[in-house]
Amino acid sequence: MIRQLKEEGWLRTPRVIRAFERVDRGDFVPRRYRDAAYVDEPLPIGEGQTISAPSMVAVMTELLEPGPGDRVLEIGAGSGYQSAILSLLVKKVYAIELETLLVAQASERLKKVGCNNVEIIVGDGSKGHAEKAPYDKTIMACAAEEVPAALKEQLKAGGILIAPVGGPFMQILTTLKKTGKNRFEEKQHMRCSFVPLRRSPRGR
Ligand code: SAH
Repeated sequence: MIRQLKEEGWLRTPRVIRAFERVDRGDFVPRRYRDAAYVDEPLPIGEGQTISAPSMVAVMTELLEPGPGDRVLEIGAGSGYQSAILSLLVKKVYAIELETLLVAQASERLKKVGCNNVEIIVGDGSKGHAEKAPYDKTIMACAAEEVPAALKEQLKAGGILIAPVGGPFMQILTTLKKTGKNRFEEKQHMRCSFVPLRRSPRGR
């Protein structure tokens, strides 16, 4: 899988490649999908949510330009796979997830593989996590028409935010670089399809 991600150009940076080599995606998918874990496809993880395709995790990780001193806010922890990759590349990851069951599963998996610089928090990520702000980087794994204002506010000057921006079925993977208070430089990268950002857990 890693070889393919490199050949196809999704993975470029040696540090990022090493992180992908060290995290087994098979540890982050439900047991019945283990055989499919190394195929470049999203997979169901329960609660109607999905673990993103490895190439998407690769693109987003590369665009985030993770540095060893960074404190990162992640919205939509899902399986915890992206959090595990980031944990090897940055100082601290605060990952917010709306679904309690997914939080429990992701926390257990991360503990099992020894990621101790990831904090998974139950809640609505559209409000960010003011308590530990500001963040060097922010990564959103769910789609929104607009990047929530709280996430923009809680980003440091010079910081990078990545989000799928658009409607419920198709979005454009977008980078915002904070150039000053309330000033952002926007770059659009590619089409993508993420599950939507919701305000409350499923069925409530
Ligand atoms: N990077 C994750 C992607 C998970 S899919 C992975 O590879 O496993 C996106 C996740 O966002 C889902 O688990 C969904 O429950 C969560 N989500 C949706 N709306 C949210 C919100 N407002 N706050 C936090 N998480 C949210």
